[in-house]
Amino acid sequence: MESMMFDTSLLNEPMVRLVVGIVIGLVLGSFTTMLSYRLPRRLSIITPPSTCPTCQTQLTPLDLIPVLSWLMNKGCCRHCTAPIGARYMVIELVTTLAITAAFVALGFTPTLLAAIIGIMAVITYTVIRCEY
Ligand SMILES: [Zn+2]
Repeated sequence: MESMMFDTSLLNEPMVRLVVGIVIGLVLGSFTTMLSYRLPRRLSIITPPSTCPTCQTQLTPLDLIPVLSWLMNKGCCRHCTAPIGARYMVIELVTTLAITAAFVALGFTPTLLAAIIGIMAVITYTVIRCEY
């Protein structure tokens, strides 16, 4: 069993923190954007999967890669070319950067978990406050 355990010293290498921070930051950035859109509209945050607000095409995981997919499609929906607000990309970008920074600064600690929840809560709250 011991050999199956994570090598926790590896997890605290700065490069590992950075890479894991970016990956998790991107995922949670996408999730935070979705939360900040759906919560004030009383939409389910579990279903349905994200769709383009204009053509209702279900977005594939590729479309949901934040920032990158937005840049590749020049800010438009890949299916109907309707413009997608840069606002969403900004929310994703800010969340991703903040969570990546938290990973690098805090490492894999319980504080990190608290920081991530805090970051997501503050950003979601701020977006909803700004919108209404
Ligand atoms: Zn579309």
